[in-house]
Amino acid sequence: MSPEPLDIYDQPPAEPGEAAQRPYLGIFFECCGVYARVYRDERDAEYVGRCPRCMAVIRARVGRNGTTQRIFRAK
Ligand SMILES: [Zn+2]
Repeated sequence: MSPEPLDIYDQPPAEPGEAAQRPYLGIFFECCGVYARVYRDERDAEYVGRCPRCMAVIRARVGRNGTTQRIFRAK
């Protein structure tokens, strides 16, 4: 019953400037059933994002021992 998240963001739309260079993850916020992109802070090794509706904070660490997953579900 749970929808299968599609990793359709391997080809991000071309954006001018540095925004196109920033890595991001796709997060599906199960709390509100919404999908949002989370961009990584240049100085940090983790992604910190907020649910666009209820502002719940999620964090995802990225590293050698971390996941290579690019689509996450957050509750
Ligand atoms: Zn939410």
